[in-house]
Amino acid sequence: MKIAILGAMREEIEPILEHFGKYSEEKYARNSFYTTKYAGHDIVLAYSKIGKVASAMSATILFERYGADILLFTGVAGALDESLKIGDIIIASKCVQHDAELEAFGHPLGFIPESDHYTLTDPVLNSLAKKVAAELDLELLEGIIASGDQFIAGNEKKMWIKQQFAAAACEMEGASVGQVCAFYAKPFFLLRAISDTASGDAGVLFDEFLESSAKIGAQFLIKMIEKI
Ligand code: SAH
Repeated sequence: MKIAILGAMREEIEPILEHFGKYSEEKYARNSFYTTKYAGHDIVLAYSKIGKVASAMSATILFERYGADILLFTGVAGALDESLKIGDIIIASKCVQHDAELEAFGHPLGFIPESDHYTLTDPVLNSLAKKVAAELDLELLEGIIASGDQFIAGNEKKMWIKQQFAAAACEMEGASVGQVCAFYAKPFFLLRAISDTASGDAGVLFDEFLESSAKIGAQFLIKMIEKI
């Protein structure tokens, strides 16, 4: 199987590359794609850069140019659900674009015509994640992840997203990558480790915890790949 691993930032992908040790790099469309073999699989990795556009483009390239069969996303996110603490892991049951707004046409928030309102992740990969978490004695929350081209760092916006979309975490790439996977009918898995609270202190917390939380997500993903 050819497994694509995508993150948004270098910090989210580097721990995985370090673990693999040996890989090739190819530069394409202002992005680097790393290929290697691991646990009997062909692997292609990339970090897309931040936001919905760059991440959707990288995901497309992973399918079109590298022929990925499945796509696993790992990265960090802001917490919306009160039970989530910094360093905790959440997997998306589904994801939605919180900044998509076509209400003038009677569409609900987050809905874009001819796309899914909430993009579903792959149930088989989600079950595998739960199995891995149980083996590691790790608590794993499954919930809705909301994405948009905004870094959420204030209570008002945070509560709005949480209430409008019943979302448990917010970030900037999951739903766009999920949409690409849905269009290609490819299994999609979305994992986030919490880096901040999405409140007023989010920027400071993010800078402090990006690296450690990104590593937690990366290490979990490696364990998952070993079981696919
Ligand atoms: N520090 C970077 C910007 C980081 S943007 C710079 O200065 O260039 C935040 C990244 O982490 C995005 O990739 C997003 O997916 C995720 N993220 C973490 N916490 C977030 C939050 N509170 N709101 C939105 N995205 C968040």
